Amino acid sequence: MDLFEHQARELFEEHGIPVPRAEVTDSPKEARGIARRLGGRVVVKAQVKTGGRGKAGGVKLAADPAAAELTARQIIGMDIKGHTVGTVMLAEPVDIESEFYVGYVLDRAAGRFLAIASAEGGMEIEEVAARRPQAVARVHIDPAEGVTTARAAEIAEAAGLPPQTVDVLVRLWNVLVREDAVLVEVNPLVRTARGQILALDGKVTLDDNAQFRQARWGDQQAAHDDPLEAAAAAKGLNYVKLDGEVGVIGNGAGLVMSTLDVVAGCGARPANFLDIGGGASAQVMADGLSVVLSDPAVKSVLVNVFGGITACDAVADGIVRALETVRVTKPLVVRLDGNNAARGRAILDGRAHPLVQQATTMDGAARRAAQLADAT
Ligand code: GDP
Ligand code: MN
Repeated sequence: MDLFEHQARELFEEHGIPVPRAEVTDSPKEARGIARRLGGRVVVKAQVKTGGRGKAGGVKLAADPAAAELTARQIIGMDIKGHTVGTVMLAEPVDIESEFYVGYVLDRAAGRFLAIASAEGGMEIEEVAARRPQAVARVHIDPAEGVTTARAAEIAEAAGLPPQTVDVLVRLWNVLVREDAVLVEVNPLVRTARGQILALDGKVTLDDNAQFRQARWGDQQAAHDDPLEAAAAAKGLNYVKLDGEVGVIGNGAGLVMSTLDVVAGCGARPANFLDIGGGASAQVMADGLSVVLSDPAVKSVLVNVFGGITACDAVADGIVRALETVRVTKPLVVRLDGNNAARGRAILDGRAHPLVQQATTMDGAARRAAQLADAT
């Protein structure tokens, strides 16, 4: 889960990274009072979980408390890249001398973290990397070793950052580790005209797998950005929305993952990951089907079940009962194999639902589902 800028700022502050004084509000009237407390002149910043707010008009300087109220009124409710602004952060303005970029991100392929740093901060780092790759330093971090002062000095040196940033680099690593983040980013990290180092904008992505020990974000972390994922989570389903058109339901995470690969191998794109688990009761099957079918992008659904402890006839019973409660609007291809497969198939044949067809192999089922998605 991504945090808002003001939440990232709070974490930075707790870990001793210098940040400008700031407060958050959803009320323009309150914004005026906050501006007064911060000394009159403030930067008003839209709190949305997307970058490029500056360019979109979501970061504005206000000269006095009255202007702060007016600006807050303009920014609250604004749409930035599909995100509606609910709150603004008002921050003490800073006299910027130079802008840097520093961040750590989990590099799954390398089995390491990656430190990314550049003396050309402010704009999006992808842009800098594309235009002037030599201006972006990348240093792999061994997770067991972490970022020591020596390693931080190496990163700063590689990026051409001033020595005062070394302390921030170490502390930012502490944020990543202690807060269970998979990404922490400061852009810009600035040096002020007075030589002070300040984190002006922050992004933190928490590791959702560590949710159980990061209770402070509890409520929001349960809030999924995707409405289908939210509906699935409410039903206790293991569902992840993807970009394609073939809905996928299976029992067991490994089987579902390989089903996604096989669907992709047939030239189609999976619309989701959905693992209904070992039990696969009629209720879970019905819940799963209704979530997958309610995705407007889905054109066909592939149900791939390998009967183990839960036999295929029980799963087939579940599907038949699910068909009584869920209105099936798109073709379903079911592949049952494993324990009691023949009995399971017979049960589905007996139901003879016009939109349900069976396949005996995973490849065949995926091919058929891909064809059906292509045809509709
Ligand atoms: P983003 O566009 O979403 O990345 O939002 P940022 O918080 O990074 O703000 C964008 C840009 O606005 C920064 O790179 C700065 O150049 C500028 N900016 C933000 N806060 C201040 C400030 O306090 N003083 C000055 N002079 N510029 C600021
Ligand atoms: Mn920024």
